[in-house]
Amino acid sequence: MVNGYVPASLQEALEIRAGQDVIPYAGGTDLMVKRRPDAQYLFIGRLPELRQITEDENYIHIGAAVTFTEALADPRVPALMKAAVSRIGAPAIRNAGTFGGNVGNASAKADSVPVEVAADAKLRLISLRGERVVEIESFYHGHGTHDLGPDELIAEILLPRTGLDHWYYEKVGGRSALAISRISFASVFDMQEDRITKAAAAFGAVSDTVLRFRDLEAMLIGRSVAEAKDMKPAYLRAYDERLQLTEGRVSAQYRKRVCLNLLEDSLRTFGI
Ligand SMILES: Cc1cc2nc3c(=O)[nH]c(=O)nc-3n(C[C@H](O)[C@H](O)[C@H](O)COP(=O)(O)OP(=O)(O)OC[C@H]3O[C@@H](n4cnc5c(N)ncnc54)[C@H](O)[C@@H]3O)c2cc1C
Repeated sequence: MVNGYVPASLQEALEIRAGQDVIPYAGGTDLMVKRRPDAQYLFIGRLPELRQITEDENYIHIGAAVTFTEALADPRVPALMKAAVSRIGAPAIRNAGTFGGNVGNASAKADSVPVEVAADAKLRLISLRGERVVEIESFYHGHGTHDLGPDELIAEILLPRTGLDHWYYEKVGGRSALAISRISFASVFDMQEDRITKAAAAFGAVSDTVLRFRDLEAMLIGRSVAEAKDMKPAYLRAYDERLQLTEGRVSAQYRKRVCLNLLEDSLRTFGI
């Protein structure tokens, strides 16, 4: 039993959010573990406006209260995202856990976030004041902190509709299933007219936020596959120097070795 509100509409939810000190939640799979008896909660998990998957010309819009199980059953959700969320928790967690909750948790271990970072996804944030769309990378400030106003809700995740056909995803946990990530890695690769146009690599669970280094990716942009192969040793060396990883249950040294192995394996998958 939690104290709080169950609004009947998004408008009502936003009014409560604007006027009261409430903590929004959807699946509750993160939040209820840390439930505070003194806090007031706002349940947004059944609001139809947040439970849709839609498309427009440029983006697939995944509502913040869409569960992982629902996304896995939807043919519009890209295979890369499905690869990541299919490995979240167990079926019961995937049935309740939502995309908005995974982002809202502000954890670098959240498994959908490296995919969103590598895919250049955006977030639509809403409040009574209006809405704003932000890049997923700029949303995070550090461990457990993000750019969400006290009156705002995450409304949806915007995933680009194109450019996600060539991808690589791997999650390394303490077990092959039911494991929180020790390292997660998502990569998106694209070419046009024999030239590399995208080589995004995002590392999850290894630092306070998901890491992506656009300046290092630039070493491959505009090159042919043959040129990228020549560049590969320098590219991997640059990541070796740049990746400053936190100690966790496993050592920083182990994490870096695994990150570099995953990066190299992804390049191999893309023919480099
Ligand atoms: C046993 C277990 C295993 C797990 N395994 C994994 C795993 O393998 N990978 C993984 O990534 N996670 C895992 N999790 C964590 C959790 O299930 C996910 O992070 C899930 O996506 C949280 O979604 P939720 O809807 O339950 O979030 P909630 O618990 O409802 O909320 C989480 C946070 O997000 C905020 N929030 C939620 N929705 C919104 C919104 N629309 N706008 C603003 N803020 C919002 C809440 O205030 C809260 O701070 C696991 C959890 C458990 C208990």
